Amino acid sequence: MVNEAAWRALHEECIKKNVKLIAVSKTKPAEDIEDMYALGQRDFGENYVQELVEKQAQLPADISWHYIGHLQSNKVKYIAPFVHLIHAVDSFKLLLEINKQGQKNNRVIDVLLQAHIADEETKFGMDERDLIEFFQYYNAQKEALHHVRIRGLMGMATNTDSDVQVRSEFKKLHDIFKTIQGSEFLGKDYFDTCSMGMSSDYKIAIEEGGNMIRVGSLLFGKRQYQ
Ligand SMILES: *Cc1c(COP(=O)(O)O)cnc(C)c1O
Repeated sequence: MVNEAAWRALHEECIKKNVKLIAVSKTKPAEDIEDMYALGQRDFGENYVQELVEKQAQLPADISWHYIGHLQSNKVKYIAPFVHLIHAVDSFKLLLEINKQGQKNNRVIDVLLQAHIADEETKFGMDERDLIEFFQYYNAQKEALHHVRIRGLMGMATNTDSDVQVRSEFKKLHDIFKTIQGSEFLGKDYFDTCSMGMSSDYKIAIEEGGNMIRVGSLLFGKRQYQ
């Protein structure tokens, strides 16, 4: 069941603040996505390749699908024909595979790099050192990478009740984002997306400069995992 009032409020807030709202529909049935589509939502986020492929095939073609989960290189080919943005690139190897699949599909695939900002081992992503190394590889090979575009960063804060900690982690992510944006690493005007914040912490994320939020349970209700 879709929470229409929550969607309307969040949609309005995002328009006002120039933030892109991604409705995270993982584990939810296609009917829920159709209901939210009917309200006007077009950007949806999924975490599992097979689930995304199945939903994409049966839902309207003008949906922008965001792959927000951890992605294995050997599965890129399944989503490469249609995915709008891959949020969680955490290795150069994965970037190379996305470029290869972009080429095969004759398109440019937009991606975000996942930065590790939480103090939890369980969350994927690159720390600052990894990111520097990543951009060294990237700069050495970018002439050959015409089918992938690095649009920005994505990160997840620690799952904690401490707003102070969440805020400082988002601030850190935004600082790294700004540094890369201003550096000669990339200096590309399309490096413009800072994806941070979910149901529990999107307000803090927006206050700290995030311009893309990924919200699931607040819009679709709690998820049930088997
Ligand atoms: C599931 C998920 C979300 C949405 O989480 P909610 O707490 O339901 O809003 C956001 N980002 C990522 C990467 C996720 O896996």
